[in-house]
Amino acid sequence: MALYDCVIIGGGIAGIQASIQLGRYKRNVLVLDKGKGRSTLCRKYRNILGWPDGVSGEELRKIGKQQGKMLGVLYQTEEVVAIERTDHFQLLTRSGQSYEAKRLLFATGVTDPNPFPQLESCLGSTVYICPDCDGYEVQGKKSLILGSGKSGVHMAKRLHHWASELIYINHTREAIREKDKALLRDMNVQYIEERIQSPLVTDRQFNGVTLHSGEVIEAKHAFIAFGQITPQSDLARKLGCERMENGHLITEARTKKTNVEHIYAAGDVGVHAEQVTIAMGEGTLAAVWIEKSLAEGMV
Ligand SMILES: Cc1cc2nc3c(=O)[nH]c(=O)nc-3n(C[C@H](O)[C@H](O)[C@H](O)COP(=O)(O)OP(=O)(O)OC[C@H]3O[C@@H](n4cnc5c(N)ncnc54)[C@H](O)[C@@H]3O)c2cc1C
Repeated sequence: MALYDCVIIGGGIAGIQASIQLGRYKRNVLVLDKGKGRSTLCRKYRNILGWPDGVSGEELRKIGKQQGKMLGVLYQTEEVVAIERTDHFQLLTRSGQSYEAKRLLFATGVTDPNPFPQLESCLGSTVYICPDCDGYEVQGKKSLILGSGKSGVHMAKRLHHWASELIYINHTREAIREKDKALLRDMNVQYIEERIQSPLVTDRQFNGVTLHSGEVIEAKHAFIAFGQITPQSDLARKLGCERMENGHLITEARTKKTNVEHIYAAGDVGVHAEQVTIAMGEGTLAAVWIEKSLAEGMV
């Protein structure tokens, strides 16, 4: 079995950026990625230096991997399902392959709750999840919030000053406090407590929703807010890595080291603002400190 200097679990933004940096140290690096994450879902990132017209996650991943391959990095489509620690780390994938690594980087990201798979083709183009990333896109426009309970209220607080008209549809009908209903009224946000029958989508364009009652609510933009995201941190937890209550991995800010020796974490699986450029920065930071630890020969 080949022994890698570092295996990176997760080939999204943080993982690919880390692999490029480690490739430039001429390290023996393998990236294992199961193929679906936030960066495969987002059709357009518009807040990244150098991409004024936006760039899709798939495009960034493609050109990032091309760059890494030129540096000798290996990329495999594989899901890591178990890891054991002996002298090194032994990784097992769903297809039954085994790999061995001196250092591990978790760049496994998070998953977002979304009860409407039909919306996937619109994510990042006309349907958004992050007000920091895409509040700007609904400036002066009508937008829906498709959500659940207090998560939708939080989203409305972040968006009401951007949108010209905001309607929050509480799809799960999870109760919200009277105080929050009053707040929505104060912010001029229309509140509808009714199940959504189906979203109306043509290609990447969101057009609105049909409610359970048959009423159609038209809008060209929507944010989704269905509650807690799930950090993909279970494998790290089993190796003893500390997590926040919400499942994010805890790392040292400067080095991206976890509390377990030789294990690092970068990107959305850790505690940060969940944006592409931050995931890239963290990937680089982790790679720099992985290199230092390998160079010092602390096997
Ligand atoms: C709809 C949408 C719009 C967004 N818009 C913006 C925006 O405009 N601007 C912005 O800055 N950010 C935006 N983001 C956030 C941005 O996509 C994330 O911050 C970024 O993708 C984080 O990178 P990451 O590498 O941590 O995670 P990801 O890109 O999610 O990559 C993690 C990878 O790990 C893999 N993985 C997980 N577990 C395993 C395992 N066990 N084995 C193998 N592989 C595994 C997954 O398959 C995935 O490919 C948006 C996100 C979404 C969903």
